[in-house]
Amino acid sequence: MNEFVETLLELQWHEPKRSYDVVIIGGGGHGLATAYYLATRHGITDVAVLEANYIGSGNSGRNTTIIRANYGIPEAIRFYQHSLDLYRTLEAETGCWIMHSTKGLLWLAHTETAMRAERARCLLNSACGAETVMVTPEEARRLCPQLDLSGGGRYPVLGASHHTGAATARHDRVVWAYAQGAMRRGVHVLQHTPVTGLVRDGDRVTGVETANGPIAAGVVLSAVGGNVTTIANYADVRLPIRTHPLQAFVTNAYAQGLGPIISDTELFCYVSQTARGQMLIGAEFDPQPSYSMQSSFGFLQSCTAKVSHLLPFLRDLRILRQWTGICDVSADFSPIMGETGVDGLLVTTGWGTWGFKAIPAGGEQMAELIATGRTPPLLAPFGLDRFALDHAMADQGSTGTR
Ligand SMILES: Cc1cc2nc3c(=O)[nH]c(=O)nc-3n(C[C@H](O)[C@H](O)[C@H](O)COP(=O)(O)OP(=O)(O)OC[C@H]3O[C@@H](n4cnc5c(N)ncnc54)[C@H](O)[C@@H]3O)c2cc1C
Repeated sequence: MNEFVETLLELQWHEPKRSYDVVIIGGGGHGLATAYYLATRHGITDVAVLEANYIGSGNSGRNTTIIRANYGIPEAIRFYQHSLDLYRTLEAETGCWIMHSTKGLLWLAHTETAMRAERARCLLNSACGAETVMVTPEEARRLCPQLDLSGGGRYPVLGASHHTGAATARHDRVVWAYAQGAMRRGVHVLQHTPVTGLVRDGDRVTGVETANGPIAAGVVLSAVGGNVTTIANYADVRLPIRTHPLQAFVTNAYAQGLGPIISDTELFCYVSQTARGQMLIGAEFDPQPSYSMQSSFGFLQSCTAKVSHLLPFLRDLRILRQWTGICDVSADFSPIMGETGVDGLLVTTGWGTWGFKAIPAGGEQMAELIATGRTPPLLAPFGLDRFALDHAMADQGSTGTR
């Protein structure tokens, strides 16, 4: 921990007003970061963040905390690299300890096809500012001595891409850091305040409905994680989004020693070690779209089998806890940020299974759009209009391992 950061938080709660310049629906990382950057970068503090439950109760407090920028299209690499850079300085900027730790990330490949994909990724990443290099099996083993290079005799490792800047940070501390920073500057964060409808004046959205009555807003931003379809429906906006459950689990604590984050490009599973020593493990989202937050034994069974081929020591650990979040996944596996076609209503969505790493850049860019009315260049490729214009940002191959 840096000596300049605080471990205790000071969250200041307020009674709701009847009207704000900006109302943000959703007190997850994206909603709170947008409020924080509105206040700190643009001096806009007449802002309310309305959270149905408690802040960080959605995916921002349920994820596996991986921060990386090794995406497969230039627009995404630049966006996520910027986010990775903002994460590096977030403790210094906010004065909050988010337990940021740069670990590097190995993406293992078991076939020639996967090796080709990873070589191409390294070239494109380097060209766009994200450091990713190919490593041989022996080099991968030096970085992670626990790796079984034979993959349990079934999945031999042919090589890996090594994304050196990848990191982790404690997810709920990130949420609290942004909440505290925004609240200190006068932003109101209203917990247990679900938005139940949008107030409209003709074609324009002019506020939100809550159980305690309407709240007027100059601009409404939806930042609701796995619930955007409900909010968009209130304004008759149809989004190319499907909602899927995503599960993860942790084991009991193990001696510190798993250096890098280990991901597998073909088995679609990944492992990192938390500061407590627990192994934090996840895989692909459930294939069936659903709002269910039920965790399943089937997931545990298939995921544990895959990861223990790669890291056999995991077989000796116990599973402590398993949980699920619901993720809004866009048709091209890239985020959707910006205007909706309905005046007064903006969205930041489509963060699927990979949006924790994007919280700083997503918040910063959305704040700039709201404050200036102009779409910043980093955000421009991810507008909703790309689907109508046939400019999809297709990057499914970069999302499977978070
Ligand atoms: C198991 C799992 C592992 C993951 N691992 C990673 C990872 O390693 N790296 C990574 O980058 N990403 C990961 N993700 C994805 C990441 O967590 C999400 O993309 C990100 O947290 C989305 O943030 P958000 O602020 O948009 O949404 P959320 O954090 O879900 O916040 C949305 C908030 O909106 C609130 N809300 C919903 N409806 C309403 C309403 N009507 N009124 C008011 N409030 C409302 C919710 O209660 C919620 O608190 C993972 C996700 C899961 C589930």
